[in-house]
Amino acid sequence: MSELPPNHEQLVTFVTTDYAGITRGRSLAASAYKPRQMKSLGWVPANMSLTPFDLIADPNPWGSAGDLRLLPDDTARYCFGIEGSETALDIVMSDITELDGTAWTCCPRSFLKQALADLKAETGMTLAVSFEHEFQILDAPWQQAPAFSLQALRRTDPFGPMLMAALRDAGAEPEVFIAEYGQDQFEITLAPADALAAADRAVVLRETVRELSRNMGWRSSFAPKTAVGGVGNGVHIHFSFRGPRGEPLLYDASQPGAVSAAGGSFVAGILRHLPALTAITAPSPVSYLRLQPHHWSSSYTWFGERDREASLRICPVNRIGKSDPAKAFNIEYRPCDATAGPHLALGVMVRAGLEGLRQKLEPPPLFSGDPAAIPEAERKAMGLHRLPQSLDEALKALGADTTVTSWFSPIALETYIGMKRMEMKLAGDKLDDALCRRYAEIY
Ligand code: GLU
Ligand code: MG
Repeated sequence: MSELPPNHEQLVTFVTTDYAGITRGRSLAASAYKPRQMKSLGWVPANMSLTPFDLIADPNPWGSAGDLRLLPDDTARYCFGIEGSETALDIVMSDITELDGTAWTCCPRSFLKQALADLKAETGMTLAVSFEHEFQILDAPWQQAPAFSLQALRRTDPFGPMLMAALRDAGAEPEVFIAEYGQDQFEITLAPADALAAADRAVVLRETVRELSRNMGWRSSFAPKTAVGGVGNGVHIHFSFRGPRGEPLLYDASQPGAVSAAGGSFVAGILRHLPALTAITAPSPVSYLRLQPHHWSSSYTWFGERDREASLRICPVNRIGKSDPAKAFNIEYRPCDATAGPHLALGVMVRAGLEGLRQKLEPPPLFSGDPAAIPEAERKAMGLHRLPQSLDEALKALGADTTVTSWFSPIALETYIGMKRMEMKLAGDKLDDALCRRYAEIY
C-alpha cells in the first residue's frame, strides 16, 4: 500500500452485514474514533428492507420513521493495507442497536452472538468455525487455463500473494489459496477461529477480495452462479465444538463417522430444519441453480462422510505426522452461498444445532451413494429429502417451520420475508444468464 496521500484523513467505517448479505456502514475520521468510548453512528430501520437491487421492499414494516445506532465492537476492528489502495481499509464490525444500546431486533451480528451465548450457557460448548469461500474473477484478459492448474493460478500473479498478505495483515489467518474447478474460479480458506470472529473474518475476506480485484482492474464475484451452466461458488461453513478449556468435543472414535453424541444431535437438528434454513443460507433465486444434484454443493438432507454432495460433510482428518485427530476434526455445512451474510447464516445453523442438542436427537444415519439414483422409499428410510428447489419453496419451508420462525421476532421475520419476496419480484421469473450476471455484479 502506498503512503497516506497528503490532505487525506484516514476513515474508519462502522459496518454491518445485513439481510441481503451486503456490508454497509458509515465512516468517520479515524482520529475521531476512540475505542472504549462507546461512540456510535446513526442507522435507519428501513435499511434492513433494502433488496440487493437497491430498492427498499414495499411494503415494509419500518417506513421512514425511527432511528438506530451502529455500535462498533472495539475488539473487532480490522485495519490493514490492500495493495493498490490509496488508504488502509479500516472497518469495525458493529452491532445495530436501539438508541439505548440494546440489540436491535433485526441485527444479524447480535442474532449470532445470542445463539452462541445460548449454546454456551446450555451446553458449556463454544464453536470453532472457518468459512471457506469460492469466487470467480470475471472479465480478466486471460487465456483459459485448466482446472486446478498451476498456470490458472500463475495467471493471476501477484493477486494470490497480495491477497494472502492483506488477509494476514488483517489478522484473518489465511491458509490456502486454490485455483478451483470452475472457469476463473478460486478459493481461499482461513484458519478456524472463535465463531463470531470467523463470521467477522468472512466479511473481511469478501471485501478484501473485491477491493484487491478492483485494484487489479478485474471484478471478483462470490455469486452462487455467475452463469447458468457454470460451476457454483459455495460458502462452506466448517465447525467443531470446544469445551471450557478449549478441548475438542466433536470427535469420538467409537461412534459412526467418529462424531460424538453431542455432534450427532447437533447435526440432526440442522438436518431437521434444513429446508427452512436454506431460505437464509442460500437466499437468492440464483442460489437454487447451485443447490442441485451432481453440483458438489448439496441438494438433499444428507449427512455424509467425506462426500462433497452431502449437505453436512464429515471432513477428512489428516494423520500425516499428527497425533491427535480430535483437534482437526470438523464438519462442513455446504448449502450456503455469499448472498447470505455470514452472521445470520451461522446464527441459524447454531440455533438449529442447539435445538437438536436440547431434544437429544439421535444422530442421522450416514449415507454414501447418489440419492438421486435410488428409489424414493430408500431415500425416505435414510431421511434424505430434496432441499427446496427455488427461493419461493425455501421461503414457504421457512414460513412452515415454527421452530425456525420462533428464533425471530415477528417484525424481523416480516422484514426478512418481505425483502426476499421483493427481491424475487425485482429478479423476475427467468433464471437465466442475464440474471446470474446481475447477481455477479452485486456479489
Ligand atoms: N463449487 C462447489 C460448491 O458450489 C464446491 C466444490 C468443492 O467441493 O470445493 O459448493
Ligand atoms: Mg472448493
